[in-house]
Amino acid sequence: MERPGYYGRFGGAFIPEILSATLEQLQVAFSGAKKDPDFWSTYQRLMSTYSCRPTPLTYAENLSRHLGGPQIYLKREDLNHTGAHKLNNVIGQGLIVGRMGKSRVIAETGAGQHGVATATMAAKFGYSCTIYMGEVDVARQRPNVFWMEQLGARVVPVKDGARILKDAINEALRDWSANMDTTHYVLGTACGPHPFPEMVSYFQSIVGMEVRDQILQQAGRSPSRVYACVGGGSNALGIFNGFFDNSEVELVGVEAGGEGLQSDKHATRLASGRGSVGVAQGYKTYFLQDDDGQMLETHSVAAGLDYIGVSPILSAYHEEGRIRFEAATDAEVLEATRLVMKKEGIIPALESAHALAGAFREAGEMSRDDVIIVNLSGRGDKDIFTIADALGDAAWKSFIVTKAEEYRA
Ligand SMILES: *Cc1c(COP(=O)(O)O)cnc(C)c1O
Repeated sequence: MERPGYYGRFGGAFIPEILSATLEQLQVAFSGAKKDPDFWSTYQRLMSTYSCRPTPLTYAENLSRHLGGPQIYLKREDLNHTGAHKLNNVIGQGLIVGRMGKSRVIAETGAGQHGVATATMAAKFGYSCTIYMGEVDVARQRPNVFWMEQLGARVVPVKDGARILKDAINEALRDWSANMDTTHYVLGTACGPHPFPEMVSYFQSIVGMEVRDQILQQAGRSPSRVYACVGGGSNALGIFNGFFDNSEVELVGVEAGGEGLQSDKHATRLASGRGSVGVAQGYKTYFLQDDDGQMLETHSVAAGLDYIGVSPILSAYHEEGRIRFEAATDAEVLEATRLVMKKEGIIPALESAHALAGAFREAGEMSRDDVIIVNLSGRGDKDIFTIADALGDAAWKSFIVTKAEEYRA
């Protein structure tokens, strides 16, 4: 019998004593919700009327023909409200907050997407909302900060340390410790102390449940492979959950290869063999760290994959060999983004384009009878600053310069 909250040797809850009561309360509320026959249908109904669920499964016909390999299907999480799978998680946690009788939510965010999703959920449920964000990230992510504030959240710039995501996490934990009676900490991915990895992947499993039926209806068979990008691991676990029990389906997680694995500028913890097992941020998993356990700097063109840890659930599947992990470089990701825009009229998030790049690279080894699914975790219009820069679009650059001059005048 495994210890609760452990996946093989990964997971657990390594937290300050003061937080154990509130995590226990969360565990009880979550278990109660899972056992309540009405809970999942309430969740599903809310997602269908508020966030376009079930999201479609799209056959990428032009792309499949162009690559000459397998039939490629895209699971359209980009069509969720707020533009990504993140809403699946925060709406689920919002319902749990209600069951606990709390009225305030806090979250930390790096790129700001989880902050926007949390602020959206708080507005919808009428909770008060505080978002912690490193001061450096606040400056870099002004559009998302703007939306969080417009949605009614208070955004607190964190001035400690390097003023980035990890410093925001510390500040959010301090707030939680002081305000546990009223406040829930909304974690954004399937990481952190138990029960967060289990709870977040439970809500994201709605993706896998839908797609398992959709592919049978549309392609008449199960896929040979399913691809998903891996930041913390929540969209990957969501879609993979539809296929874990079918050993014929190969599951492929694609991490951020950044400027290449021979450089230090990437965020691959599992694919590269560079990650090592440690305990940080409340849980045990593979981290990118040095021999003294100091966390390394990570890099990715996609802000949502730029993270030092990874879900303990994925680390366990990695060691069992149930999921294969690969990496896609920034350059491959931009190429894949360009191809999908031109061939399918879909703008993928740069995160999601990692899964696409991983799939395209392997398309040549598969036949036309093969069916694959790529999880399109989010849409890319939010990435316009990065994509336009990376593609070197001169007209975009002069637009930004003109705008700046207008403000200066
Ligand atoms: C946040 C984000 C990710 C990475 O998070 P996971 O927990 O690994 O899914 C991937 N894609 C998009 C579009 C995101 O916004």
